[in-house]
Amino acid sequence: MTASHDVVVIGGGGAGLRAAIAVAETDPRLSVAVISKVYPMRSHTVSAEGGAAAVAGADDSLDEHAYDTVSGGDWLCDQDAVEAFVREAPRELLRLEHWGCPWSRQPDGRIAVRAFGGMKKKRTWFAADKTGFHMLHTLFQTALSYRDIVRYDEWFVSTLLVDEGRVRGVVAIELATGRVETITAGAVVVCTGGCGRIYPFTTNANIKTGDGMALAYRAGAPLKDMEFVQYHPTGLPFTGILITEAARAEGGWLLNKDGYRYLQDYDLGRPEPVPVLRSMELGPRDRLSQAFVHELDKGRTIPTPHGPVVHLDLRHLGAELIDGKLPFVRELCLKYQNIDPVGELIPVRPVVHYMMGGIHTDMDGATGLDGLYAAGEAACVSINGANRLGSNSLPELLVFGARAGRAAAEYAASVAGPGPGAAILAQGREERRRLELELARYAEPGPERIADIRIAMQNTMERSAGIYRDGASLAGAVQALHRLRERFAGVAVGDRSRTFNTDLIALLELSFMLDVAETVVHSALRREESRGAHQRTDFPGRDDRRYLAHSLVHREPDGSPRVEYLPVTVTRWSPGERVYGRQ
Ligand SMILES: Cc1cc2nc3c(=O)[nH]c(=O)nc-3n(C[C@H](O)[C@H](O)[C@H](O)COP(=O)(O)OP(=O)(O)OC[C@H]3O[C@@H](n4cnc5c(N)ncnc54)[C@H](O)[C@@H]3O)c2cc1C
Repeated sequence: MTASHDVVVIGGGGAGLRAAIAVAETDPRLSVAVISKVYPMRSHTVSAEGGAAAVAGADDSLDEHAYDTVSGGDWLCDQDAVEAFVREAPRELLRLEHWGCPWSRQPDGRIAVRAFGGMKKKRTWFAADKTGFHMLHTLFQTALSYRDIVRYDEWFVSTLLVDEGRVRGVVAIELATGRVETITAGAVVVCTGGCGRIYPFTTNANIKTGDGMALAYRAGAPLKDMEFVQYHPTGLPFTGILITEAARAEGGWLLNKDGYRYLQDYDLGRPEPVPVLRSMELGPRDRLSQAFVHELDKGRTIPTPHGPVVHLDLRHLGAELIDGKLPFVRELCLKYQNIDPVGELIPVRPVVHYMMGGIHTDMDGATGLDGLYAAGEAACVSINGANRLGSNSLPELLVFGARAGRAAAEYAASVAGPGPGAAILAQGREERRRLELELARYAEPGPERIADIRIAMQNTMERSAGIYRDGASLAGAVQALHRLRERFAGVAVGDRSRTFNTDLIALLELSFMLDVAETVVHSALRREESRGAHQRTDFPGRDDRRYLAHSLVHREPDGSPRVEYLPVTVTRWSPGERVYGRQ
């Protein structure tokens, strides 16, 4: 029941597959495992629609992409990381083209680019509105061509194995059989994606439960900037399904209950009659989501059974443009909302979309814990600062997935030698025993239900750590989460089967989510300023003197979080005002 690889990558999404390919390219002698709790093509990357940013044309420059990213992130980005990112992103996207990614093109054959929120030049590459689908397919088929990449599809990692400050592998459950295996490794790369599911309304797939963030946190690696939670301004009510920013990039308008383009009241630009690059609907996501709350306060939103909404209007774009450039938007609206955007208004509301924060890493994915690397949404390098610009995440997966893969390969090669000792194998046996005990704690009906605690946690997060927060509500959330953790101890797995025991997995995911939610509220409580996606009504201004710094939350031996700060790296752009409308 023990397997061994040089590098274990947890996650088969964009970051994980890119990292695995990088390991195989760096040193073909190394064996790489990709462990994924779902079949890799079902990772959340597949659902990315809008596109991937990288400088493509002569009218654009790396400096402009860097500046948009840094100012969009409200100056919390590490500028050395941003400079590396914008430099390497075009090369990575081109590489993907050579591996088979069908980027949309202009009539003359050059790569087509579209406008995106907060980007002042057109630089978002796309493959219709199924960009993530095509990118993930390309990475998956490329990974298949490397024989040394071994896949553990539908295996769930429950813990990291750590000995004397070094990560030496993982314990994972094969979902189809319930078999628990110790998988040792020279290096482990965490690419497990985000944790939008700690909130009730999210664009994120059910699987986005912050597992890797919690695994790293428990193993001793700090989490960075967890208070910065991105709301996307246009999700469908109830399901939270995303209506991509591309809909606004192609000229869609946001209207309040009076049919008025309300963003013109929020210093985000002019109400242009035709789609233009700086039209106010293409302001950054934090500002647009905040404007929605103000419209709500003024009574200018539309009530629905699933909460207040505004309208996204695509009608003036016409069927031809919608079918050519936004076919998936039309399909989603027809299937899940029973409306046709060619002739009808789309009801939308802000929904949790992305975590700017994650496992603290350097530019090569190193976490500070020997042998542990991280990349993708699970990690925080940080290029996203206090607010990620749309279309920067997909290229981030490639640039930093590749960097983490290369660094992990070099580390694994350097420590090759005798395998892990008795202490690691004993930890593996101990974890198997713990999982067996969870199964044995069968209760009918359980004193507490997993779903009840999960819903209570999600509502606490939305109420207290949403688009706007304040000290009192965050302090209340700390207490509420503490109580939920106590209740969690009374939860039992209602299913004893070893075959696809989704109850056991839901239990493990909930325990990860409770850890991650706790780091969000603690970091948010400590940051007494407003910056990007973190808006404190009791501290409405940005405070660079105290908080031009990343928060790092460590797990104390008793399990409680401890927050400290790390200065932001500024290379060329001193903090300034974020200006979108007035220029
Ligand atoms: C609807 C939607 C649209 C988006 N559109 C865009 C866009 O147009 N442009 C853009 O730049 N960004 C976009 N984003 C953001 C971007 O898609 C994500 O941030 C990115 O795809 C995350 O990739 P990842 O590789 O880090 O993780 P994911 O793709 O989420 O993959 C995570 C992997 O980890 C595995 N995993 C997790 N936990 C475990 C565990 N315990 N054990 C084993 N395996 C585990 C999963 O099985 C999965 O394979 C969008 C996001 C959403 C939700």
